[in-house]
Amino acid sequence: MATDLYARDVAAIGTLQKLRFFPQTAVGGAGCYLRDSNGAALLDLSASWGAASLGYSHPAIVEAVSRAVRDQAGASVLSGTNAAIVELAERLLRITPGEGARKVWFGHSGSDANETVYRAVVRATGRRRIIAFSGAYHGGTTGSMMISGHPSQAHAERSSDLVLLPYPCRYHDTVTAESVLEIFDHMIATSVPPHEIAAIFIEPIQSDGGLIVPPEGFLAALVRRCRAHGILIVSDEVKIGLARTGKLHGFAHEGFTPDIAVFGKGLGGGLPISAIVGPADVLDAGTAFAMQTLHGNPVCAAAALAVLDTIEREDLAERSASQGADLMAALRGLSEKHPIIGDIRGRGLAIGVELVDDRNKKTPATRAAARLLYRCHELGLVAYYVGGNANVIEFTPPLTFGPAEIAEATAILDQALSDLAAGRL
Ligand code: PLP
Repeated sequence: MATDLYARDVAAIGTLQKLRFFPQTAVGGAGCYLRDSNGAALLDLSASWGAASLGYSHPAIVEAVSRAVRDQAGASVLSGTNAAIVELAERLLRITPGEGARKVWFGHSGSDANETVYRAVVRATGRRRIIAFSGAYHGGTTGSMMISGHPSQAHAERSSDLVLLPYPCRYHDTVTAESVLEIFDHMIATSVPPHEIAAIFIEPIQSDGGLIVPPEGFLAALVRRCRAHGILIVSDEVKIGLARTGKLHGFAHEGFTPDIAVFGKGLGGGLPISAIVGPADVLDAGTAFAMQTLHGNPVCAAAALAVLDTIEREDLAERSASQGADLMAALRGLSEKHPIIGDIRGRGLAIGVELVDDRNKKTPATRAAARLLYRCHELGLVAYYVGGNANVIEFTPPLTFGPAEIAEATAILDQALSDLAAGRL
């Protein structure tokens, strides 16, 4: 049965061949677990790349979405608005700090939202350049790729108006916060006139680039410099926003409030919806005709409202902080036993484990990372790798992740790491 479904997927879609996925065809899920077509339960430490923020089939989402489908208030905001999307817009404005007249734009994905921000900031400011970071992933559509710096994306796709700064990493101290600030100052003084720069796109934790937590004070210092030149500040909260880091917003750890915040993935709890919260004049200037038929869909809005309600009711930001600290402590325990673990970093339930062949030289253990994850999958645990060297295991489990799941995940990882060290893979 499993082989059959797998073969059909490969023939009909081909996702399993193209990407870093496992020979797994999910037929269901509940809580932190997926169920595959063999009947095996898989503990999902990725939560589908952070999208299943409440886990699978969470009662609040099941209830809200079922109600929204039973009493469907339209499907397209192009023919009028709907109550759920208006409520969601007001809710996002309330929970996202910011000044002045602001608005919300809704899309389907992090990619279309970032692409729309790109267009809006260029149109609104009349400036053509964008600053982003090497390693940044802002999406997979043409416009969002143009402002991304991830090595997996072909350089040809990038905008010639994109300026990439290095993202400093405490573990690999080859690029320090001070050196990046110096690069910025030098660039502004010599090669890139600041009046040409519309915005800077910031990930408060660089996730696909390797789950990198920036050095303390770095982003605040950079934001201060950008503000002095009238450069708009965009916080890409798509993967790590909405309670994942132990606070509601990723930027809240970094001492700055962005002009524009971009939400996606976990906002819909597994349904496709993204949002931009930003100044009304910027969104008005740049989002005319930036619309697709199902933008603002009431069923997706109902799911997002259920996610935000649950985050608030169950204080999932606080839970993320405490469970993340426990998971991190358990991983630190494993690192004493397994020298392949070079670094453990993160905030709340956004955690990266960097694997190295040599702790002193910090050489990336790329092949080992893939083998380890494959073994984890065989043992019933799902996680993926990120980073330019594909050697950082990323954990973004459901925000409902708890002590029992931490114990199970640690035991499986321990077993898989032992199997890897013993050459049993
Ligand atoms: N921004 C960040 C920080 C992301 O991690 C991603 C996806 O991984 C995106 C944007 C793109 O989101 P989507 O895949 O929903 O288009």
